[in-house]
Amino acid sequence: MKIGDLASPEYKSVLDRAEDRIEETILFGAVTGQSDKDEVEIPSFPIAVMMVATIGVSFLKRRYALAEARRASNLLRNEREDKITLIANNFNWKIDSVEDPTNSLTYDFTLHYTDFLRNATGFHDKKWKLVNKRMSNGEVCLTKNDVVRLLEEEIRRYIEGKLDTDVGSLPETLMNRVNRLKRLLREKRGEARPLEPSKEVLINAFPPCIRELHGTITSGRNISHIGRFTLTSFLINIGMATEDVVNLFRSLPDFNERLTRYQVEHIAGGRGSRTKYVPPRCDTLRTHGVCPSMDDVCRKVYRPLAYYRRKLRVAQRSTSEEET
Ligand code: SF4
Repeated sequence: MKIGDLASPEYKSVLDRAEDRIEETILFGAVTGQSDKDEVEIPSFPIAVMMVATIGVSFLKRRYALAEARRASNLLRNEREDKITLIANNFNWKIDSVEDPTNSLTYDFTLHYTDFLRNATGFHDKKWKLVNKRMSNGEVCLTKNDVVRLLEEEIRRYIEGKLDTDVGSLPETLMNRVNRLKRLLREKRGEARPLEPSKEVLINAFPPCIRELHGTITSGRNISHIGRFTLTSFLINIGMATEDVVNLFRSLPDFNERLTRYQVEHIAGGRGSRTKYVPPRCDTLRTHGVCPSMDDVCRKVYRPLAYYRRKLRVAQRSTSEEET
C-alpha cells in the first residue's frame, strides 16, 4: 500500500480506526477497543503513527506512545511465555523463559542485566532497583508481569522514535482528519496552564526540589509518586487553589482528570480523612532522590515549606523596605 492509496474509499474503515486511536488518546490518554477485522486493525496503527507525527505536537507524541504501549502490555499480560519471548526477541533482548517442573520458583524469566537497566532506569519504585533483584551470572530473575512492564517501556520508546520521523505530505482525506484532531487537541490542551507568578505564589521562592519537579511537569515529563505528592502538597500548602494544581498536571502524557482531581482534593484535605497533607521532610526526599541539590537556604531548613517561608519573608521584607 502506498500513502497515495489512502485517499481511496476502500481504506475508510482503516482511517476511521486510526483516527479513533488518536482521538481516544487525546481525550482519555488510552487506546481501547479493537476492530474485529485484522485488515482494519493492523494497518490502522502505522497510519495513526503517521498522523500523530504529522500533527507534530510533542505532548501528543508522548501521550500516544504511552497509550499504545499500555495497550500492548495489557494484551501481553494474557499471552503465554513463548509469545512474550518472541516479542522480546524482536527488540534483541537476551531473554530466556525458565522451566519450573517443581513449581517452586518465584520467577518466570531471566533477562540480561543490560536489557533490564535500559528499560527500568526510569522506574521509581524500589522494586526496580537492580540491587533488589535476584541475579545470576549477569541475568536478572523476573516474573512475567515484570517482563511485560519492561516491554511496555521498550515499546513506548520504540513508538516515540517512530513519531519523530518526517512522513512527508499526506493525501487531503488524511489531512482533513489530521486537522480535526489538531483542533480537538487545542481545545483539550487550552485548559492546561503552567504556574504564573502571582501575589499568592512566589515561584522564585521555590526550593530547588520543587523548582525541579515543577519544571519536569511543565515540560510534560512524568515524575515519581513521591514527586507528585511533594509538589501537590507543597502547592496546596502555599495557598494555590485545587483547580490550578489540577491544571498544572494536564501537560502529563498520562493525565487523567478524574483521578488527578481526586488525588489533589485528597491531599488538600477535602476528601477521606479530611487530613491536609504537608510535603515530606528533606531527609525523606533525599532518600527518594527528589532532592536535586542543596543551596545555602536548604542548609538551614528541614522541610521544603520552611525554605519557601524563609525566602518569602526575605522577599516581603525587601519589598516593604523599597516602599518606605
Ligand atoms: S534540601 Fe530540602 S528544600 Fe532543599 S532541595 Fe533538598 S529537599 Fe528541597
